Amino acid sequence: MIISTGTASGKSLAYLTPAVASCLDGGTILYLTPTKALAADQLRGLRELRITQLRAACFDGDTPFEERTWVRQHANYVLTNPDMLHRSILPRHAQWSSFFRRLRMVVIDECHGYRGVFGSHVAQILRRLRRVCARYNSRPTFLLASATASEPGAFGMRLTGLEMDEVTVDASPKGSTTIALWEPPLTELRGEGGAPVRRTATAEAADLLADLVLADVRTLAFVRSRRGAETVALTARAKLADVAFSLSTRHPRPSTPRHPNTTSPTPPETDPTTNHHRPPSSTAHPTPLETDLTPSQQPGTAKPARTTQPTPPETDPALNHQPGTAKPTDTAQPAPQEPAPTTTHQPPARATQPTPPETDPALNHQPGTAEPASLATPGPSRTTSELSAAAPAVSTSGREVPAADPASESSLRWALPDAPAQPDWADLPNKIAAYRAGYLAEDRRLLEKALRSGTIMGLATTNALELGVDVSGLDAVLIAGWPGTRASLWQQAGRAGRDGQDALAVLIARDDPLDTYLVHHPQALFGQPVEAIVLDPDNPYVLGPHLCAAAAEIPLTDDDLPIFGTTTSTVLDDLVSQGLLRRRPAGWFWTKRERATDLADIRGGGGAPIQVVESSTGRLLGSVDEPSAHTTVHTGAVYLHQGETFLVELLDLEAGVALVSSATPDFTTFARDITDISILATQRSHPLGPGTLHFGEVEVTRQVVSYLKRRLQSGEMLGDEPLDLPPRTLRTRAVWWTLPASAVAPLAEAGIDLGGAAHAAEHASIGLLPLFATCDRWDIGGVSTELHADTGLLTVFVYDGHEGGAGFAERGYARAADWLTATREAITSCECERGCPSCIQSPKCGNGNEPLDKRGAVRLLNTLLSSQQNATTSAQ
Ligand SMILES: [Zn+2]
Ligand SMILES: [Zn+2]
Repeated sequence: MIISTGTASGKSLAYLTPAVASCLDGGTILYLTPTKALAADQLRGLRELRITQLRAACFDGDTPFEERTWVRQHANYVLTNPDMLHRSILPRHAQWSSFFRRLRMVVIDECHGYRGVFGSHVAQILRRLRRVCARYNSRPTFLLASATASEPGAFGMRLTGLEMDEVTVDASPKGSTTIALWEPPLTELRGEGGAPVRRTATAEAADLLADLVLADVRTLAFVRSRRGAETVALTARAKLADVAFSLSTRHPRPSTPRHPNTTSPTPPETDPTTNHHRPPSSTAHPTPLETDLTPSQQPGTAKPARTTQPTPPETDPALNHQPGTAKPTDTAQPAPQEPAPTTTHQPPARATQPTPPETDPALNHQPGTAEPASLATPGPSRTTSELSAAAPAVSTSGREVPAADPASESSLRWALPDAPAQPDWADLPNKIAAYRAGYLAEDRRLLEKALRSGTIMGLATTNALELGVDVSGLDAVLIAGWPGTRASLWQQAGRAGRDGQDALAVLIARDDPLDTYLVHHPQALFGQPVEAIVLDPDNPYVLGPHLCAAAAEIPLTDDDLPIFGTTTSTVLDDLVSQGLLRRRPAGWFWTKRERATDLADIRGGGGAPIQVVESSTGRLLGSVDEPSAHTTVHTGAVYLHQGETFLVELLDLEAGVALVSSATPDFTTFARDITDISILATQRSHPLGPGTLHFGEVEVTRQVVSYLKRRLQSGEMLGDEPLDLPPRTLRTRAVWWTLPASAVAPLAEAGIDLGGAAHAAEHASIGLLPLFATCDRWDIGGVSTELHADTGLLTVFVYDGHEGGAGFAERGYARAADWLTATREAITSCECERGCPSCIQSPKCGNGNEPLDKRGAVRLLNTLLSSQQNATTSAQ
């Protein structure tokens, strides 16, 4: 059975009831979740039931060795994850015999997380589990809980290999959620090829997070990368530190609202970096929450955005520095500008600006103690305030006119009008934290607890939390960058507003074609079915290692073959010829001394991991799998570890080590690679317009050749540094389209650069494929050429970035017409003239985004999509 409904719709109750009943009846339950954190949360819930016969226990990497024996022998409700099942429980099934004998039910929670290559691995682990159960004569019921997905029954069947009933009707009570689609503004900064640069989603998210926390709105910010989440937390904390600092230097003024958001009179319109072009669907709130929060600044860190800010220091009371206090960066500021008269969402009090700094006792900085740079930028956070629905309108002149708005004050719990309360102010930054998978168990628990108790009001996280930690009582969710799928979007948005309360969710677009497309096409989000969850258990690169592991658990016989899929016998022959398995009359045997489970790296990667070591202390910070090392810890990369920033001094692939040192750079790094592709086998083909669409096997040679440095706050490009790393070869699957010379000749005659057009179409189509397959653009890659050696034609490839393929390119083949139509619309709807990161530029382009032809790409796609009416339906 698979239950596929929204967040907080009661899925847990649906499996807990029969599961606990089975335990009371003498059975055992195996509960699987993708993350340890969710298992810990579930365990807490089970213990709160206070049922003595229920002996629930976690069995994961954090479980102390001495407890493991107890769990195996006595627990009747075991919470674990696929990794532990793969590495520990199944290989030692004999030690679990009494548990397996009584196994009644396997609960697979948050199973939508099992997609792509990881999902394919989990699918094979579940087949091994079924085989081990059969050995102990148990036939457990599989009960799957998933976020909403298309065709959940089919997905569940692919995942488990079993027929599934599906439950998809969600009748749970819900408050309403206001969804805002938020496009960061184009800045005056220029990137590659002079393209305009948008303000980054993480910078906008940090502003919003700080503002919401100040307004007492309990907020979770989802950021796609671990690095991004930590950047958002650091930035938002720095803003709160600035607020705390400015509060702590004020004299107590009993009747004065202490809201710190009252010191920034500069209208957003004067700040080009914050000039938000709100999409029509935006629910921007007209009530400003003025803050003097500043973009994150570590002391001494240069701030790129500031140099473009025209805000005159003279009009900003926050800039009331004592004579002699250095304000080096302010010298770069352009001349004062008039506040824009067209402001519609500023309070009347705005017009009373500027408050003479001299009269403001709140800004009485001690000489030498001020961090002027950090106060010099009232900037971005102001514009975010329109969204802070919970924020009262506090007059910017409120400090001088005590009766600003008494009602508003009461909602600001942290603002303590009558008490100096320094400790609370000093503690303000600690209300924001970062969370990610990979933290130590104790740290995770502390963080989860703090969020539940309200000690922490704002949390920036990767999707570690998406996979299920039960955080209740959230008011708002910020989603920095399209989370990859509508399913994830609704899952993340559903985090806010538990207990039937109304909530706010903001999707902040990244500088990316898909994000741009979505904030301009809300119809692609609302009223659309969610995506199907894609996985490919038949991938031979996935299946092979699990057949070895299965043979090591219990020798394989002919009877086992149907369990593992139709390609099993071919893959077994390969394993025998490679000397990994031995064929004997009784079946296939694993005869090596090594552990067979080491062959499968189920969370991706492969290759020996690279150790990340702090050079000055020799401290081991963590490890990165070898393929990722080329892109994440190459020499010169910025590497974040638990909120600390490091610069990679040296990546030594032979020694398997990356030496890093603590640093506070104001830029991020993006590795870029160049790619060659050759076609090994064409499996399917279909006409598309005047051209042809193909799906098949390819060999891809990728080499990380350089890395791009971009400013942290602004996204401005700083440079492209060369790297010397070896190429890597990948055998995978791809979808590609070709156009005959007769179709492209008219375009060439019209002066279109065909190479640039194909390249631009490739970039944008990589960006848009995630709308149709549950992948992200980093799971896939592309190659385009005016003339490919294997086809002899203009060809654009998009391939799965995982050995053996992951099902994404196959999905692109099946949905090609819709996918390429959306690609064309993403390009045409971007307001840039010649191409930018929101449409046709790619951050990982190994060719430095050259050549690119935006108008040519549209013409090329028009040609390809002409007379393609029936392509979608017949492509499958
Ligand atoms: Zn653009
Ligand atoms: Zn490129």
